[in-house]
Amino acid sequence: MSFYFTEEHDFFRKSFRDFLQKEVVPHIEKWEETGHIERFIWEKFGEMGYFGINYPEKYGGMDLDLFYTVIFLEELQRVNSGGFAAAMWAHAYLAMTHLNKEGNHKQKEKYLAPSITGEKIGCLCITEPFGGSDVGGMRSTAVKKGDSYIINGSKTFITNGVYSDYLIVAAKTSPELGNKGISIFVVDRDTPGISATKLDKLGWRASDTGEIAFDNVEIPVGNLMGEENKGFPYIMQHFALERLIMGINAHARSEWALEYTIQYMKDRVCFVKPISQFQALRHKIADLTADLDVCKTYNYVTT
Ligand SMILES: Cc1cc2nc3c(=O)[nH]c(=O)nc-3n(C[C@H](O)[C@H](O)[C@H](O)COP(=O)(O)OP(=O)(O)OC[C@H]3O[C@@H](n4cnc5c(N)ncnc54)[C@H](O)[C@@H]3O)c2cc1C
Repeated sequence: MSFYFTEEHDFFRKSFRDFLQKEVVPHIEKWEETGHIERFIWEKFGEMGYFGINYPEKYGGMDLDLFYTVIFLEELQRVNSGGFAAAMWAHAYLAMTHLNKEGNHKQKEKYLAPSITGEKIGCLCITEPFGGSDVGGMRSTAVKKGDSYIINGSKTFITNGVYSDYLIVAAKTSPELGNKGISIFVVDRDTPGISATKLDKLGWRASDTGEIAFDNVEIPVGNLMGEENKGFPYIMQHFALERLIMGINAHARSEWALEYTIQYMKDRVCFVKPISQFQALRHKIADLTADLDVCKTYNYVTT
């Protein structure tokens, strides 16, 4: 047994890996080409409970420990489609984290529960064309008018930005307060005034990374999540998990690439030998394996 994973974890890893091989891998080439992940696979993920591993049983989740999430992320990287993996984890850990932490009971029933079953897909809209790292510098606004907020502005690089059913949107309710004036809203995709364009990327092609415009989008005040003007601390708190997720994605993808390379080196014959027998290449692989182990251990310790 490993220091971090129990037998139950290992069992989950094996069954999820088998599921991905059977249900996902046969479709990856098509989704990479079309840039559209078909709905049936979201629903299958939901049926199997994969979107709910980290969420309360009350809303249909399984409330399992964070190492199940580590396995979920690691195994997703093994299907050889960064875009497919991104679509799944952006839904399950970017959009749904905000719903779970800031959403009230009504919002959780309407959006979190169907996100767990895979009936609704979400995206998280923070980054804007004018900047991503500088969250406090965002320019989108949400102005309160009676029982509504009116959202104006634009977002870019949004994973699941085109085909998702709802959007978790950060916008300034008090622009004069800078990063202390940001709030978070849940917005239905079909609200008038929202338009989205798919970006033509070099990689992650299965994932619909979108640019989204909000033109006088009117939403009920009940769509505010958590407290008004507390959006910046909410975003920063969740960045901790999101950064860990990106770290795990990176080590898992590197591990898969290294395994792929080692197999290639065993198969490829040059000067009458498999190239895996050349000492200079073996040194390189040993160095990369050591680097990978350091990153992986760091991520496990952080988890
Ligand atoms: C495929 C893809 C999917 C994405 N999905 C989402 C999503 O679902 N939701 C979402 O909200 N965003 C998403 N993003 C946006 C992503 O979070 C931003 O790209 C990121 O925050 C960086 O912002 P930026 O691209 O505007 O770069 P900038 O913030 O303009 O940064 C440009 C460069 O300057 C560096 N830099 C910035 N500030 C500093 C500093 N203080 N000191 C030193 N260097 C600095 C950065 O490291 C970077 O190299 C996605 C991006 C991509 C590419």
